[in-house]
Amino acid sequence: MNILGKSLIGFQDATPGGDSFQAFNPATGEKLENLFYSANSQDVDRAAQLATEAFPFFSQLKPADKAAFLKRVASEIEANADQIVERAQAESALPVPRLKSETWRTIGQLRLFADVVEEGSWVMARIDHGDSQRKPLPKPDVRSMWHAIGPVVVFGASNFPLAFSVAGGDTASAFAAGNPVIVKAHPAHPGTSELVGRAIRASVRAMGLHEGVFSLLFDSGNTIGAALVQHPFVKAAGFTGSTVAGRALMNLAVSRPDPIPFYGEMGSTNPLFILPGALAARGNEIASQLYGSFTLGAGQFCTKPGMIFVPESDTTASFFTEFQAKVSQSRKLTLLTSGIRSAYQRESEKRKGRAGVAVIAEGEQPSADSSFFARVQAFETDVPTLLANEDLGAELFGPSTLLIRYSQREDILQAARNLGGHLTATIHGTDDDLRDFADLVQILRGKVGRLVFNGYPTGVEVCHAMIHGGPYPASTDSRTTSVGTQAIYRFARPVCYQDFPDNALPDELKDGNPLGIFRMVDGQLARE
Ligand code: NAP
Repeated sequence: MNILGKSLIGFQDATPGGDSFQAFNPATGEKLENLFYSANSQDVDRAAQLATEAFPFFSQLKPADKAAFLKRVASEIEANADQIVERAQAESALPVPRLKSETWRTIGQLRLFADVVEEGSWVMARIDHGDSQRKPLPKPDVRSMWHAIGPVVVFGASNFPLAFSVAGGDTASAFAAGNPVIVKAHPAHPGTSELVGRAIRASVRAMGLHEGVFSLLFDSGNTIGAALVQHPFVKAAGFTGSTVAGRALMNLAVSRPDPIPFYGEMGSTNPLFILPGALAARGNEIASQLYGSFTLGAGQFCTKPGMIFVPESDTTASFFTEFQAKVSQSRKLTLLTSGIRSAYQRESEKRKGRAGVAVIAEGEQPSADSSFFARVQAFETDVPTLLANEDLGAELFGPSTLLIRYSQREDILQAARNLGGHLTATIHGTDDDLRDFADLVQILRGKVGRLVFNGYPTGVEVCHAMIHGGPYPASTDSRTTSVGTQAIYRFARPVCYQDFPDNALPDELKDGNPLGIFRMVDGQLARE
């Protein structure tokens, strides 16, 4: 596939006209060839118009046909995986094995959603039969199920050019629910976005679907994203990225004359609590594994453990020695964009100047003129300083973490009560620790979407039970997930049918259950 740098509006390539931009290779700092042209307001209107036209057909596709489309997208990406990975490597400097596994995750995610759609029970059909003889009033026949919501806009993040981008979890779940999708491409990986976008477009064509099922728009700035979220034909938006950008777009979504659901999956610091028994039993092992977790992907994971609580005990010094040794031996790491690098440097400098915060180890120093490299850093503080400085708990995107010493049980309970919303919280403990700190688990349950025990938060399994979300600012809606098959409910809404004749009901709600799905019939879950 050739990279043309033009937005994909249904089956047409947009006419170049707006500003142009190029991607960078973060490893060399050089611009990559290929110009990408920003879309304009006509392109936004056209994509939204086409998506609206496609919606009635696409949303009513038979489950098997929708599943076949999702599988086709997976196969098109698989067939072009070498070229996609090569381009993603040039645009992100992420290692090829990591990008290959991200490609497999993206493909697997599409196939998993295909299975969910084909099986069909995701619509949560409920049937309450009527009773015309009921006294004092007859009972109506009431049935409900989840339907597609309408055209969805998707924004991907820079740090997952595949799994949280053009054909990532938001797009897969929006398609699975039956919605056309318009993606605003991330400017850090436009070539990767175009290649994946062309694979989706080829699938739409091959399956004989309406061209409005998918569009992809480029922009060198924020105008197109803002216009998409505010477009009257757009009915929901999925966003993965920083809290600042997510909040700005959410404000636009809810300020419309007709506010729409906006699902922002944003930054997080992912507190990790080492309890006394675990530190005594395997402190050095935890130190070494924690180093691996917080530097994974150069610390550019939304699940990076950025706050680590360490108890004061006989083995604390040994834990710190091991951790500091790992950090001191680190090579400089490549960040995804010069913007991420300058934010990392700026925020690290602020942290260094803070009373009560110390740098306890630093890795190799990059040269002053390299705009994409960063130094691995570990900071240390104590609970009173953390409690007095709310911003120390904010995400610092990049390869750094903050170790927080505590001596009293009440210290970490207080720190936990003071936390904002996060994607994850992790506890390292023994059985005795868990018993002694049962209230810590209770407190953390109110703060995060995923609780991890004796593991590390980086790495999010794509499965049916996964929850990747959390109270604000981790996400804009703590009731949902952006990873796993429950993500489908963000882009669907429940509709109820009262006293409809059987032949006018959707198949999912007909008496004979022609699709053979699980349904709740008069309060009982059944497949008959
Ligand atoms: P980002 O700067 O927020 O960018 C995300 C997208 O939003 C880009 O397309 C960006 O386009 C656009 N955007 C930014 N500001 C905007 C504004 N004011 N109006 C309209 N659009 C705007 O985030 P990133 O650097 O790509 O990703 C890093 C962040 O994502 C980290 O905070 C990380 O924790 C988070 N993340 C979260 C998850 C999760 O699942 N919760 C997963 C991965 C990453 P422009 O660049 O053109 O502005």
